[in-house]
Amino acid sequence: MRYVATELEMLALGRELSESWKIGDIVLLTGDLGAGKTTLVRGVMEGLYWEGAVRSPTFNLMQVYPTRIPVVHADLYRVANAAGIGLEEYFEDHLCLIEWPDRLESLVDFDECWQVKIDFADDGRLVSICSPEL
Ligand code: ADP
Ligand code: MG
Repeated sequence: MRYVATELEMLALGRELSESWKIGDIVLLTGDLGAGKTTLVRGVMEGLYWEGAVRSPTFNLMQVYPTRIPVVHADLYRVANAAGIGLEEYFEDHLCLIEWPDRLESLVDFDECWQVKIDFADDGRLVSICSPEL
């Protein structure tokens, strides 16, 4: 559990995590609207030296970034069930960062994913990070 006081600290945590994550990893980002899931993704993309914008893919569902480690960022908020949107095509050769992973249903084995949970706490956030079970 880590206390993340500010948006800047959340970006720094994302940069830090970008060094642990690799192609083929699936990261499930859980937390209410405004918790900071997309902010964490922005930090990850900073860590991968992405210079462009990182927008929440709420309407297009997925955004692919051709960084050193290719990334797909998905936001499944508007999706009832993610089966059929083609996300699994990216699993093997991208780092997958997925907001609202409850929509994945049985598309992935949650135990094989990184699980990042963000909760509101005072003025900041509490972040728990679990690596995949071996
Ligand atoms: P989500 O993707 O979970 O809906 P966003 O990352 O889009 O959330 O938005 C988080 C919002 O909360 C941003 O407006 C950000 O500035 C604000 N914020 C305030 N404190 C923090 C913090 N400690 N960590 C992350 N975001 C924070
Ligand atoms: Mg978001």
